[in-house]
Amino acid sequence: MDISFTKADTLKNHPKDSTLGFGTIFTDYMFNMDYSPEAGWHNPRIEPYGPIAMDPSTMVLHYGQAIFEGLKAYRSDSGEIQLFRPKDNLHRLNKSGHRLCMPELDEAFLLEALIKLLKIEKDWVPSAAGTALYIRPTIIAMDPYIGLRSSNTYRLFIILSPVGAYYPEGFNPVKIWVTTEYVRAVRGGVGEAKTAGNYAASLYATHLANQDGYTQVLWLDGVELKYIEEVGSMNIFFVVGDELITPQLNRSILAGVTRDSVIKLAESWGVKVVERKISINEIYAAHAAGNLKEVFGSGTAAVISPVGKIKFNGKEITIGDGKVGPLSAKLFKHLMDIQYGKAEDTFNWIMPVR
Ligand SMILES: *Cc1c(COP(=O)(O)O)cnc(C)c1O
Repeated sequence: MDISFTKADTLKNHPKDSTLGFGTIFTDYMFNMDYSPEAGWHNPRIEPYGPIAMDPSTMVLHYGQAIFEGLKAYRSDSGEIQLFRPKDNLHRLNKSGHRLCMPELDEAFLLEALIKLLKIEKDWVPSAAGTALYIRPTIIAMDPYIGLRSSNTYRLFIILSPVGAYYPEGFNPVKIWVTTEYVRAVRGGVGEAKTAGNYAASLYATHLANQDGYTQVLWLDGVELKYIEEVGSMNIFFVVGDELITPQLNRSILAGVTRDSVIKLAESWGVKVVERKISINEIYAAHAAGNLKEVFGSGTAAVISPVGKIKFNGKEITIGDGKVGPLSAKLFKHLMDIQYGKAEDTFNWIMPVR
């Protein structure tokens, strides 16, 4: 399929790297493609970024049949632009789509489309330390229909947003809040898909955590309310004794690309990594015994997010001395160094955009 290109009449001014935040500025162009049962995926096109006209009855607005991805393009010191494990993100998009009854995509074609879009928008990739161009592929149900079934038609789009460093005030630990009243996902639900409703489901508990002075919710499993699943929209890791422990993928946890990278990197350094069920009580017991050394979240946006305090059942514990632990700091630096081309890419995770 040929990808058509429609030039914009005027181009936007680029913000200064130092003023970049997250998710508010979008580039000049977007990629669009449509699906219908008759034509399959068709009309791939790069055109000026702009609103999507839709009927108020459009199914995505009512039933939440929507999936997305999040990855970044990084500018290396030599000025080259590179992606980090993009095939994993596009594969996960297909997996989320499968769970949401969406038609399958040609991942190789989508990667080609993304690279074509990035080449057009290359000047939007910021260069200051820690900045990047955030990439948001999305698929939404487009049938104008009020009634519950899966849509017949879909729109796929990719938009780009230059983003600032995640830690402008330094790499500092966050405070997280455990709830036994609300859950993000349940066994058999859609937790392992990157689908819109999961994030809507997380808002109220996050609001309560914020009101209590905590930044993120630590989610427990939706069946027994005992086992740890994720933190906010990140995967979570614990250093207990000399082991790095993370909840095993159980179909309600999102399989993060950063999670997988952390596991592979840590193993390559000789760290014992264990994927298993881990309860919040076990974490509190490890803390009481002096064995809980570090806790951190992992995700594309923050890479590594160290956790300084946890509150559960009214009791707050401080992890280590409340500062960033050595393994968290080492993983953060090394992952960033790979992403920005400062460290050797021994796992073949980098794809240059040329
Ligand atoms: C996107 C996401 C993650 C992190 O995935 P990465 O691929 O590492 O960015 C973790 N949990 C949830 C719920 C997510 O949506």
